Amino acid sequence: MTTEQKTVPCPICKKPVPLDSEDVPFCSARCRTIDLGRWASGHYKISSPILDPEVLEGLESGSRPKTDEDDE
Ligand SMILES: [Zn+2]
Repeated sequence: MTTEQKTVPCPICKKPVPLDSEDVPFCSARCRTIDLGRWASGHYKISSPILDPEVLEGLESGSRPKTDEDDE
């Protein structure tokens, strides 16, 4: 028999967690606590992909008021 073990990635540190771990899906009680803390402080409201730096850059330059060209 193989020693291969089913794992899931820890939501906090992405470390593989054996499914028979008592803290699954977290790799440890510590990561579980971190997760709880995030929920409590509202970090998990929306996990938005719009936080991509490139997207933010585009938004900034797109919404910039035109002052340079129309000045005179
Ligand atoms: Zn972890």
